[in-house]
Amino acid sequence: MQLYKNQQLKVHNSLSGKKEPFEPINEGHIGMYVCGPTVYSNVHLGNCRTFMSFDMIFRYFKHLGYKVRYVRNITDAGHLENDADEGEDKIAKKAKLEQIEPMEVVQRYTVDFHNTLQQFNFLPPSIEPTATGHIIEQIEIIKEIIDNGFAYEINGSVYFDVIKFNETNDYGKLSGRKLEDMIANTRELTAQSEKRNPQDFALWKKAEPQHIMRWPSPWGDGFPGWHLECTAMSTKYLGETFDIHGGGMDLKFPHHECEIAQSEASSGKSPVKYWLHANMLTLNGKKMSKSTGNNIYPSEIITGENDILSKAYSASVVRFFMMQAHYTSILDLSDEALLASEKGYYRLMDGMDNVSKLNTGASSDFDVKSWLQKCYDAMNDDFNTPILISQLFEAVKHINLIKEGKESITEADKTLLQNTMTTFVHEILGIENQAAAEDNSQTLSGVVELLIGLRNEARSNKDFATSDKIRDELIALGIQLKDGKDGTTFSLK
Ligand code: AMP
Ligand code: ZN
Repeated sequence: MQLYKNQQLKVHNSLSGKKEPFEPINEGHIGMYVCGPTVYSNVHLGNCRTFMSFDMIFRYFKHLGYKVRYVRNITDAGHLENDADEGEDKIAKKAKLEQIEPMEVVQRYTVDFHNTLQQFNFLPPSIEPTATGHIIEQIEIIKEIIDNGFAYEINGSVYFDVIKFNETNDYGKLSGRKLEDMIANTRELTAQSEKRNPQDFALWKKAEPQHIMRWPSPWGDGFPGWHLECTAMSTKYLGETFDIHGGGMDLKFPHHECEIAQSEASSGKSPVKYWLHANMLTLNGKKMSKSTGNNIYPSEIITGENDILSKAYSASVVRFFMMQAHYTSILDLSDEALLASEKGYYRLMDGMDNVSKLNTGASSDFDVKSWLQKCYDAMNDDFNTPILISQLFEAVKHINLIKEGKESITEADKTLLQNTMTTFVHEILGIENQAAAEDNSQTLSGVVELLIGLRNEARSNKDFATSDKIRDELIALGIQLKDGKDGTTFSLK
């Protein structure tokens, strides 16, 4: 269903600093690129927040009936320490430290990333390309930028000429910076720097002999600069100009600013119609960050094994906690905040459980249709999930009143209410009913135990046809029985 035709979605575009009506370049289709993780360590909960914000946005677009191509990359090369052009590659440094291959580092933390996202009920993106898989595309873009006069080669490295670019284009338009101020605020180039200006950034870096991650290029063996991979992969899969580019606020400068410069300097086109930036998760009022150690890992929340936590929290509670804040607001993580979210989460789940049990009557005191539109209005206002959640609690309030017999609801409204709650909570916010999942697994255990009992009975009656049938049909359902000396156990395949 093309629900988007009836909804007036607005998104906050960082490029204009305003909320703008959302109109995709090709009707009914959306191309969305989100910068993925640099896979040199486990993702922390801050990284998860940014990816979760875009997962919610992806889910809402899909719900509205758009055909979405969502590209989220894996940075597995080229990201140097401190986001600068000097220093070591983050992945190569970790590989040296752990005495393993860089690609082992990449594999280990890519697997961790995927497992974590699965735990938090993320939808997979449409394409998940890697930087190392797109070296040729990156080299092609560098050649175009050099041909257009916006980059220069020196000693086997290639740098983007920011001053030259700014003569005809606007470097700083996304982050609201002026090149003159940047120049005034930077110190002289360090003696070993070969760049013409401190603002110039690397497109290609020459690999020193000890550097393991290296590729041949027209300028000699080397590796690409970090900003270039996103330009190469977004252009390849979404075109020279696409609808949405997302990432954390901290990527606005220099990363996204440089992406714009690279595209304009190569294709001559502005790459993105709407730039969306998700805000930071903080801990103790400070940004969670891999490098400072001020962070908490998803696994620590799930097990409760961190000093700031009084207990463990389920992935659904954490997701609910994240969704209670608008994606452009800073969110501070604390035990108190998680405890409050946990209470809210269970209140919402109870409300949802209760809808199906409501008695119905001839009329409704709760105007479900206008409430439903308020849920959409919240999401249409730049994905305002906290307002949506307050609307969901408004419904819970009425559900409880109907349950107590103080209000009534018609059968049709009850069905609409139930479907809407499910759509917004599960499908759009991606929040699962953990208690229901646990209940289901307990029910399953009970049923299998019952069948094991019946099979034992059949076996003692020498009715092997029945006992084999039970075993074989359970296998067909993915349940394996194992007979041991202490009785029969089962496992799920
Ligand atoms: P990285 O792997 O460091 O490139 O980060 C992956 C994503 O996580 C980027 O979009 C960052 O902007 C985002 N990010 C990093 N730290 C935080 C944080 N504390 N809160 C929210 N997002 C973050
Ligand atoms: Zn990027």
